[in-house]
Amino acid sequence: MMDWRAIHLCLYPFLSAASKYVEETGITLDNLIRSGAFRYARLRGKDRIIEAIRDGKVRKQVIISSAQAETELLSYPFARILVSCIGDERLVRRYALSEAKAAYEKLLEDSSTGSSSDTDIMYEMSEEFGIRVDFLPGEREQVQVPFVDYLRFTANLRDKRWKLVNRGLEKGMVKLRKSEFIRIIQEAIYERIKKDLPLNVPADICKVLNGYTGDIKKELEEMRKKFGDAGFDFESGSGFLVKDPSCFPPCISYILSNLKEGVNVPHSARFAVTAFLLNAGLTEDEIIEIYKNSPDFDAERTRYQVEHIAGDKGGVRYTAPSCATMRTYGNCVGNDELCERVSHPLSYYKLKLKRKKEQQDKSN
Ligand code: SF4
Repeated sequence: MMDWRAIHLCLYPFLSAASKYVEETGITLDNLIRSGAFRYARLRGKDRIIEAIRDGKVRKQVIISSAQAETELLSYPFARILVSCIGDERLVRRYALSEAKAAYEKLLEDSSTGSSSDTDIMYEMSEEFGIRVDFLPGEREQVQVPFVDYLRFTANLRDKRWKLVNRGLEKGMVKLRKSEFIRIIQEAIYERIKKDLPLNVPADICKVLNGYTGDIKKELEEMRKKFGDAGFDFESGSGFLVKDPSCFPPCISYILSNLKEGVNVPHSARFAVTAFLLNAGLTEDEIIEIYKNSPDFDAERTRYQVEHIAGDKGGVRYTAPSCATMRTYGNCVGNDELCERVSHPLSYYKLKLKRKKEQQDKSN
């Protein structure tokens, strides 16, 4: 007989009911990390993290049996143990965001079936994260939440549309489209997953798991090598594009690294990095790809903003802000030797490219 509870929970493994389910199975930590019976759960746990590193999203599996559901469910705590043994804060954020994004997509799907389960899943999430949600009378697509709950989970969403002043507020309730409510749930999921990571995993357990963590570290290393010393990358659906990020100034590297890790970046920094990259020769599509890890990524809006900065449709192409402007907005993080010689991030880039080329010519 199919275990529908496990099938449901394995797709939302961060729920408290999922931890309870795992507890009830009686499987111990020792079983999970050593027993041959859980080898597939361990492999899937490792894959969750590798998918997060490579794609910025954990792939949801098509579950066809109860045994597969259990494997999937167990792979989640195992992945958390692996992330904790590696202890890299960037990986923690990237992994948490990748799980949250996958859950967001699954929630969108599960809440659009056209059946009564659409509302069930919404209520389940609202209860889980303590956010009251009411459907508006006669409405399937509009909900409302108390403004205190709204503020609690939108603090990190920078886009103007999330500002309370831009929402309809009535009797202390904020109206939202269903998909917007799910976007807020994504924030709550991200915070929950990230909250206790890294776990305090004893060194002897991490030692047993060296084979798994070794593979993950290799993957991280590959990404860092491939996409520059600063440890960030430019991802695109068709592969990767690297101009020469190793020559980017500290301010731009810092913003890019935050974007990659899914950290919310202020508008002034987004503007600076977009203008810089356009001037450094990246295409608009390549720049839009970089924003895909942002927690509040909205493809249409991002395209509009990038095109605006690029001066498409007859507008003026913006140039990247100078070091003085970067300082004014708190976006200058540099104090290296080159920073002292330039007054513009693009000058830094050009100078560093030139030096690099001279060094290469010398060693040839
Ligand atoms: S000094 Fe200029 S180039 Fe260096 S980090 Fe600051 S803004 Fe960037």
